[in-house]
Amino acid sequence: MAIKKILSISQSEHILKAKSAVVQNNDPQLAEVVRDLKDTLLATPNGVGLAAPQIGYLKRVFVLRKDYIAPDIEDDSVVAKNEDPIWVFINPEIISEKGQLDEEEGCLSVPSTYVKIKRAQIVEIKALDENKQPFFTCLKNLGSRAVQQEIDHLNGILILDHME
Ligand SMILES: [Zn+2]
Repeated sequence: MAIKKILSISQSEHILKAKSAVVQNNDPQLAEVVRDLKDTLLATPNGVGLAAPQIGYLKRVFVLRKDYIAPDIEDDSVVAKNEDPIWVFINPEIISEKGQLDEEEGCLSVPSTYVKIKRAQIVEIKALDENKQPFFTCLKNLGSRAVQQEIDHLNGILILDHME
């Protein structure tokens, strides 16, 4: 296992502002990226989610901690039935959005900073799981905000970029 240092904007802005690449079918590094994301998020009790660029991999992968977002997941989704405490999303895409939230968000890469950000209240998302099987799920509230922040990370966007 490998717990990685979570990159912060003060030292690694160039990585955090870069756009991550789509994971290809036979990516030899994918297993390592997934394992390190899981290990690092499990070792970070205050973290809801973590995206690959935050630990230095510019690949479109993020993970969410199930404890925090369990109430925000559609009951019958594939993801809700997965008993792993960490959920893996590879090549995620938001396919629909509904409603609006306007709440303060923090980010592990931008320590001690909270920014009020308008986000969709509900997102429908398509991704591959860690076995590269496609799945769809719907998340609301904190789960929805977390997905939107993690996808922002994959596009090189940080919470500070949402400040008016
Ligand atoms: Zn973040």
